[in-house]
Amino acid sequence: MSDNGAVEWVRRWRYELRWDPGHRGGVLSRDVDTVAQLHAVVRWALANPNVIGYRYYPVDYLEGEPATRCPAGHALGQPDPRRPGRVLRSTRRYPCGACQGHDVSACPTCGATVIEPAPAAECAALSIDVSPGRRV
Ligand SMILES: [Zn+2]
Ligand SMILES: [Zn+2]
Repeated sequence: MSDNGAVEWVRRWRYELRWDPGHRGGVLSRDVDTVAQLHAVVRWALANPNVIGYRYYPVDYLEGEPATRCPAGHALGQPDPRRPGRVLRSTRRYPCGACQGHDVSACPTCGATVIEPAPAAECAALSIDVSPGRRV
């Protein structure tokens, strides 16, 4: 469907470098896209006497354009009566054993669910309990 977007999980790495207080102090935190970039930062940190500590961890971003309509073509977002100009959308994040999770949006008109990102084959064991009779 042309006006339905696609979202996917993108894993990045966040590092934190703790600077020697006698140098500049504080913590520098940045994201890098790849493990290779992370390794380069860690190597650099280990060789830099002004860096007194570091840590890193993965951060997962859901990127892309979320779907705006259910399979029947209804808008997933409805105008928010209390905040003009804002859109209300019923979306919940469900954990998944095979990936970082799925956003499940319920259509306010027909109750159909839109699952983003679309479950991959390895997500099949997951059961999202939103709409009775629909097994994901
Ligand atoms: Zn999954
Ligand atoms: Zn609908």
